[in-house]
Amino acid sequence: MKILLVEDEENVASFIKKGLEEENHTVDVAVDGKEGFLKAASMEYDLLILDIMLPGVDGIDLCRLIRMKGIHTPVLMLTAKDTVEDKVRGLDSGADDYLTKPFSFEELLARIRALFRRRQFPVEPLRCGDLKIEPITRKVTRSGKEIYLRPKEFALLECLMKNKNKVLSRTQILRDVWGYNFDPTTNVVDVHINFLREKIDRGYPTKLIHTVRGSGYMIKEDD
Ligand code: CA
Repeated sequence: MKILLVEDEENVASFIKKGLEEENHTVDVAVDGKEGFLKAASMEYDLLILDIMLPGVDGIDLCRLIRMKGIHTPVLMLTAKDTVEDKVRGLDSGADDYLTKPFSFEELLARIRALFRRRQFPVEPLRCGDLKIEPITRKVTRSGKEIYLRPKEFALLECLMKNKNKVLSRTQILRDVWGYNFDPTTNVVDVHINFLREKIDRGYPTKLIHTVRGSGYMIKEDD
């Protein structure tokens, strides 16, 4: 999953980030409400973890702003105070659940799992022509024939499929698939697009992955 964590306390942020990355999630960190809002609005995340106590815009206002913007990503709030008032305000602002600090990492993972069970994580396959990917099982088929992708290849294809018929810049792809802190001068996107083309398009008369000169890449059904 791709997760945004908004937390100003460096040690708490790195503890959560490290733990979630060990569980194979990609984690972006924002250190205040403003940065959190900008990231949540510009990128598609599977989960937002918002600390309530933040400098400037606090977690509750941030959650409210995110929901007003029409972003329905699940939100887990972190609160230092175990008060009913804080919980009610958090849930009223559009959060799905909250966790009181200090918490164990196991508890955080359990809350995340519960949240997705309740939310019924979308299991609809994504399609482009005869290409189909199943986000949960990570099964990829073209014309019914199974294609085996490495994790980053799958993440790249999923990113393209979620934005079918839209041009994505290298920077957008880089941020979405590799995370914010990746060196923007890298050619990792082009390299992985080539890997994908080998596996997805090679040998098929209709090519699905298109290079848009000067702009980036897109996946679409026809020319
Ligand atoms: Ca804080």
